[in-house]
Amino acid sequence: MIGKVTLVGAGPSGKWLLTLKGAEAIQKADAVVYDRLVGEDILDLIPPEAERINVGKENNHHPVPQHEINEILVRCAKAGKNTVRLKGGDCYLFGRGGEECEHLLKNGVPFAVVPGVTSALAAPAFAGIPVTHRDYCSSVHIITAHARAGKALEIDFDSLVKLNATLVFLMGLTALEQVLSGLRKAGIAPETPAAVVENGTRGNQRKVVSTVADLTEKVRAAGLHSPAIIIVGRVCSLSDSLDWFTPLPLHGKTIAVTRPRERAGTLADKLRDLGANVVECPCIETHEIDNSAALKAVLAQHWDWVALTSPAGVPAMVHALRAAGHDMRALYGSKFAVIGSGTKKALEAYGISADLCPAVFDGAHLAKALADSAKPSERVLILRAEQGAQELTQILSERGVPFADIATYETIYRTDKGEQLREMLSEGTLDCVTFTSLSTVEGFVQAVGAADYTDFTALCIGEQTAAAARAHGMRVKIAKNATIDDMIACLLEESDHV
Ligand code: SAH
Repeated sequence: MIGKVTLVGAGPSGKWLLTLKGAEAIQKADAVVYDRLVGEDILDLIPPEAERINVGKENNHHPVPQHEINEILVRCAKAGKNTVRLKGGDCYLFGRGGEECEHLLKNGVPFAVVPGVTSALAAPAFAGIPVTHRDYCSSVHIITAHARAGKALEIDFDSLVKLNATLVFLMGLTALEQVLSGLRKAGIAPETPAAVVENGTRGNQRKVVSTVADLTEKVRAAGLHSPAIIIVGRVCSLSDSLDWFTPLPLHGKTIAVTRPRERAGTLADKLRDLGANVVECPCIETHEIDNSAALKAVLAQHWDWVALTSPAGVPAMVHALRAAGHDMRALYGSKFAVIGSGTKKALEAYGISADLCPAVFDGAHLAKALADSAKPSERVLILRAEQGAQELTQILSERGVPFADIATYETIYRTDKGEQLREMLSEGTLDCVTFTSLSTVEGFVQAVGAADYTDFTALCIGEQTAAAARAHGMRVKIAKNATIDDMIACLLEESDHV
């Protein structure tokens, strides 16, 4: 059966500005054809088994020509795939969405359109500029300032100036002076407020607000680049007073998050909420492993305690039990000891309250707390990563607590973000790197290789992680308690010095 093509507007940045309907379409897709500028966290919504086709322009590579994109869409649909065509911003606003739908229609392919949040409206909103305001104007116009190679702009400036409206120009940064001089020649007052917003709605958004007379010079001095929009009109004068985005405490800070993507969510989202430019660079990945023979053998006995040392260990435990032909009832009557609040929460999701959690969230404190709480001859089953830190088992041995140490998952280093990280390090654009475990430090070092590690703040969750970061020469800051909220508090305390 022929598949349907759904055009989805991805919005101007990440998944926060993607519509619920758009997210649902992506999650159900068999194939996704996407452009450059679509946020990585949106691409993460694509099911792993779906086909991904990147038709966007990367540095030094040409984009796939439009007629080929049209063909790809028809081919995917005719192969029976429900296909999502993901486009930046809104799909019908200067996105050639209309042409794509015409082609689908011609080829008998059913289609649907999910509108997106356009940069033409979202970038002004994040820059403190309401595109209309009763005191200043009553209409807003969105204009392309893209000229065909070597040709002059085909814009009717006389009509635009007569409107006395807000004018938003897309694709116009290289033609900025042409646009402004066109408006001046058509009689616009040179003192009319005007602005350029670069990377609108993103953590690295920058804006320059001035007047039609000298915007070009100021934009050049500030070195703004594409993607950017130009806004002309009296509403731009509100840009300072209504700016809610720039004053966010971590605005202008670039922070790399190294924990695995599935768990980066809360940390990355919280940092973004505070205005940071978050770059997700997962440096480790956890894979559950099949250790059912060993697990079956130990489950023949009763364990008074089960010790879990990371949130990833919780689903790994449940799956390992299943693989060994059991379920949670195999641990009936056992008490649960967890390393910290994240693991505690992960366990609660399975309906189990932890019986013990140390005051300081690390392996050594977990071991001491367990040794203090375990009655004589009580035995501990540790379910954790292969090659977990030695402190836990060492201290239990020293204190004479019997235990078994079974691996339910392994941690693998990921190096695919190395180039991006190296680039940021050499450009000096990285303010902070967050490390939520010892393995994220090792993964980061493996991904980046030899480099100067002194230029950014290594924000670490606990002593062990901090010691590993220090050993690589990093400037370390440690969260008081090993929680995500404390990491963030630690950043905020000194955000001026990050
Ligand atoms: N369909 C898109 C626009 C595509 S044309 C939309 O609705 O947003 C590409 C132009 O959009 C760029 O040249 C730039 O002018 C603008 N643009 C896209 N994303 C932007 C962003 N985050 N900040 C500022 N301008 C952006």
